[in-house]
Amino acid sequence: MSFAELGLSPKVLAAVEAAGYTTPTPIQAQAIPHVLQRRDVLGIAQTGTGKTAAFTLPMLTLLEKGRARARMPRTLILEPTRELAAQVQENFDRYGSNSGLSVALLIGGVSFGDQDAKITRGVDVLIATPGRLLDHVERGKLLLTGVELLVIDEADRMLDMGFIPDIERICKLVPFTRQTLFFTATMPAEIKRITDQFLHNPVQVEVARPATAAATITQALVHTRSAPHDKRQTLRRLIRSAENLKNAIVFCNRKSEVAILHKSLVKHGFGAVALHGDMDQRSRMAALDSFRNGEMPLLVASDVAARGLDIPDVSHVFNFDVPIHADDYVHRIGRTGRAGRSGWAFTLVSAADGKHVSAIETLTGNKIPFTNDPPPVEGDDEEEASDRPRRGRRDRSGKKGEGERSHGGRTRDAKPAHDTKSTHEAKPARNAKPVRDAEESPRATRNAADSPKPADQRRPAQRRRHDEDDGPVVIGLGDHVPSFLLTPIRRKSNG
Ligand code: AMP
Repeated sequence: MSFAELGLSPKVLAAVEAAGYTTPTPIQAQAIPHVLQRRDVLGIAQTGTGKTAAFTLPMLTLLEKGRARARMPRTLILEPTRELAAQVQENFDRYGSNSGLSVALLIGGVSFGDQDAKITRGVDVLIATPGRLLDHVERGKLLLTGVELLVIDEADRMLDMGFIPDIERICKLVPFTRQTLFFTATMPAEIKRITDQFLHNPVQVEVARPATAAATITQALVHTRSAPHDKRQTLRRLIRSAENLKNAIVFCNRKSEVAILHKSLVKHGFGAVALHGDMDQRSRMAALDSFRNGEMPLLVASDVAARGLDIPDVSHVFNFDVPIHADDYVHRIGRTGRAGRSGWAFTLVSAADGKHVSAIETLTGNKIPFTNDPPPVEGDDEEEASDRPRRGRRDRSGKKGEGERSHGGRTRDAKPAHDTKSTHEAKPARNAKPVRDAEESPRATRNAADSPKPADQRRPAQRRRHDEDDGPVVIGLGDHVPSFLLTPIRRKSNG
C-alpha cells in the first residue's frame, strides 16, 4: 500500500515524500483512512511503530478546512510527558511546514504568559500534558468546547503516572460529539473502562507488539554486587570494555539514582547527560539534544523520562537497575537495535534481583545469558573515596548504610533480598514519597475544592509504580502566581 491510497491531502503527501517515507507502517495503513472518515480509533501500538504520524498526518489533512478561534483550540493531543509532547510538536513542524496551521505546546516548566498569548490568538492544534492543560482551563484562559478531535496518546503510561482522573475530567470538558483517537501499548482493565466510556463505536487497530526483543539485540546479564557504589563500578567496567559502543542509554529505576549515577560518570571522565523529572525543561531538552547529536555519548535516564522518545541509532542499553516491571525491560532495550541495526543490552544483576529477572524472562520467553562475572572489585584504584558510602552514613530511614553494615563494604558478597531491605535499590518503588509536580503528575497541588478527593486518594494504589519519577519538584508555588497577588493595590493619595 502507498501513502497516496490513504486519502491524505496533496499537501500532506508532499510533506511525507519530503520526509523520505515511501510506505505507510501497519498502524498508519490501518488507522489513517478511519481517522479521515471521522471515526473514533483505538490504536494498540507503541512507539517505534510510526503511530505519531498515524494521527498527525490525517489531522493535518482534516485541519485544512476551517479556522482557529481565540481561546478555543480545534484539536487537542494529550501526552504523558513534556518530551513526548515536544516530539509530537516536532512531527507537526515536519509534516505541516506548509500548512499554515498554528500549533501550541502546553507543558510544565514553561511560563504561563507565553502559552496564554498563543492560546488567545487561537490555535489549530494544542499539545499538552494533562496537569498544565487543566491549570489553563481553571485560570479561565482556555475553552475546550471547540475541540473537534481529541488524541489521547500513551494511555497506559498515563495510567502508570496516575493521570487517569485528569484524563476523565478533560474528556468531560470537550464536546461529546468530538472524534477521539486513543493510543495505548497495552490494555489493562482500567484502560478498557476508559475506552468503553469515552470512545464511540471505535475502530480497533492493533499492531504486533514487540514483546519479544528485536533479533538484532544481543542481550546479557552481568553479575554485580548490590551496593550502589559497586554497581557504578561494574557499569564503568562494562562501558569501558564494551565493543562497538557508539552511544548508550543507561536506565535507572529512580530519578534520584539517575542524578547520582550521572554525577559519578562525569566525575570519572565519561561524557554523560541525565534525563529525569527533577530537571527543568530547558536542561531536559538540552540533554536530549546533546545525546541525539552525538556530543554526549551517554544518557542516564529513568523510564518515565525516556519513555517513547525517538532516538534512532543507539548502540547500547545498560540497565543499571533491573526494571521492576518486566514490560519496562522490553521498552528499554527496544531503544537499541532499531531499524535492523545491531544493538547490545546489558543488565546489571545482583542477588536481590532474581525475581525481576525471572519475570522478564517469562515475558520475553527467553533465557538471558550471564556474561562472565566481572573481575573482583578489591583494589579498584579508579574508585574515588567520595563515591563510596562513608562509614556510619545513614539512609533516610535512619538505618545505617551498606558501607557500615558490610564490614569492609566493597569486598563483601552480594546479599540476598531480605538482607538488603534498607538499601536504596532493593526498596520497592512504591514506598518512595516524592514531591509531585503540578504539570506532569496528578495535580496534588490543586486546591481541594477543585477536585472531589486529594490526588493521592484518587489514584488507585496499585498504579503508583512510577512514583519514583514524577516530574520536577515544585518550589514554593512553582510558576503559578495566585490571583490575589496580582490584584492592584490602591494607595491613598497624600493630596
Ligand atoms: P513513532 O512510533 O511515531 O515514534 O515513530 C518512530 C519513527 O518512525 C520516527 O522516527 C518516524 O520518523 C519514523 N516513521 C514514521 N512513519 C514512517 C514511515 N512510514 N516510514 C519510515 N519511517 C517512519
